[in-house]
Amino acid sequence: MKINNVHLIISAVNAKHYPQHDLPEVLLLGRSNVGKSSFINTMINRKALARTSSQPGKTRTINFYNVEDLFCFVDMPGYGYAKVSREERKDFKRMIEEYIKKRENLTIVIHLIDFRHEPTADDIEVHNWLRKMDITPIVVATKIDKVKNNDYRKNIKQIVQAFDLEDPEDIILFSSTAKRGKEELMGILDEIFLD
Ligand code: GDP
Repeated sequence: MKINNVHLIISAVNAKHYPQHDLPEVLLLGRSNVGKSSFINTMINRKALARTSSQPGKTRTINFYNVEDLFCFVDMPGYGYAKVSREERKDFKRMIEEYIKKRENLTIVIHLIDFRHEPTADDIEVHNWLRKMDITPIVVATKIDKVKNNDYRKNIKQIVQAFDLEDPEDIILFSSTAKRGKEELMGILDEIFLD
């Protein structure tokens, strides 16, 4: 699909603010600073519609982006930022849980992780938690331009082991800077939404 028309529908704080529409939704989850805003901007061909955060952990709203009236990207606050309090971390969790449990529009979950490092305890917790809710997320490894080719296999293996994945080929290797992985992911979205 060619994406030209995207707009922010609403920044929601809780379920009362979720938009009332029939659009299928693609939920985006990832640690603060994983490159989630850059990912959205890359996918929708915009420089800065989704804020790229110089202050990690700042965005605390759920942002709903209408993409071509075809589907909606739902951008959750990043989790796992060390400087937020335990209470705030719980709030994030409640926010995500509330969305996943209540939202009938939810169609796919994209779980972004940073390819430079092993999945963190938070990443593993979120992944396992999705599985428990019978959700198999698409795993997108970001910032691959920062990893040496020689380390690819090792890093992929770490993700497979941490998340107990069946097929390493299911991991989408992505870079906003190098524009890698975009076509592959667009192919998956096309199959789901253009049929
Ligand atoms: P968010 O907090 O998850 O929304 O992350 P951002 O999109 O704001 O990105 C966090 C930082 O990582 C910024 O400095 C981005 O420029 C950088 N970044 C994001 N994606 C990439 C990428 O694919 N490659 C590189 N090298 N840096 C990236």
